[in-house]
Amino acid sequence: MSEVSNKERALLNECKCPGCQEAGIEGLSASGTIGFARRATHNLYVLLEELNEIDNRLMNGSYHAWYATHVFNGMFLKLIDYALKKIDMK
Ligand SMILES: [Zn+2]
Repeated sequence: MSEVSNKERALLNECKCPGCQEAGIEGLSASGTIGFARRATHNLYVLLEELNEIDNRLMNGSYHAWYATHVFNGMFLKLIDYALKKIDMK
């Protein structure tokens, strides 16, 4: 993996997904089907963890105060702001 920052490397070292647990960062960068399968597994695991976090925060009412500290992409922030305003209008 040539373009992984130290911060990303630290996060990947702590990842609990089956792909990272099985073969670590080097396993994610493997070529061929096995590397692709590990990366796909990692990405799905992270996505499902994110969904679980969002669900929990929406249920306990902490999402509005949390999302701006968690989402760093300006375009996604604007989309979330827009969606929340639409929800609040109902
Ligand atoms: Zn992983």
